[in-house]
Amino acid sequence: MLNIVIFGAPGSGKGTQSDLLIRRYGLKHVSTGDLLRFEIKAGSELGKTADQYISKGHLVPDEIMIEILEDLIKKNLDKKGFIFDGFPRTLSQGEALDNKLEKNGLNITAVLSLDVKDKELTNRLLKRGQLSGRSDDNGHTIKSRLQVYHQQTEPLKEYYAKQDKLITIPGEGSVDEVFKLIEQAIDHLTGG
Ligand code: AMP
Repeated sequence: MLNIVIFGAPGSGKGTQSDLLIRRYGLKHVSTGDLLRFEIKAGSELGKTADQYISKGHLVPDEIMIEILEDLIKKNLDKKGFIFDGFPRTLSQGEALDNKLEKNGLNITAVLSLDVKDKELTNRLLKRGQLSGRSDDNGHTIKSRLQVYHQQTEPLKEYYAKQDKLITIPGEGSVDEVFKLIEQAIDHLTGG
């Protein structure tokens, strides 16, 4: 199985690049953000709880996220591999992901970290907010999400670097340019 974590700050292009990766490599897309937005729309209990955190730009608690992730992995073990998009976002989530995969004889193949500066991230997120109307893509919440990223999520880079799995991809080019770099990195890993 090819198990990729697509890593980066909000607005770094994780979702867009995941869509291209799925098409190219036939992987199962695990987007915790998409899943939570679906639950919010559906008005479920999980959605109501998640919305309280998401609307403020905070992270949904680890216990909730880890349970969701374990369930998703369990249900998709027959797939060619996973692309984890927006998970893990904390060290605890990273460890839980490793544990769950290990229990099933799997591991993370590589972590592709999309490198984009805060100023560009803010511009992209503001633009996305105008187009998609995503409630968390507004000035105040964006600031909080970037802070949360630097404080709680970015330390995962070191966690994966220590495992020799971190691949940094310059993420400020066009969608196609960035995807070419990703393809090269994966083909290098798989010998393709
Ligand atoms: P995303 O679409 O990945 O940017 O996620 C949107 C929001 O959902 C985030 O700002 C968080 O509030 C929440 N969220 C998504 N994934 C996670 C996660 N792995 N851990 C905690 N919160 C998450």
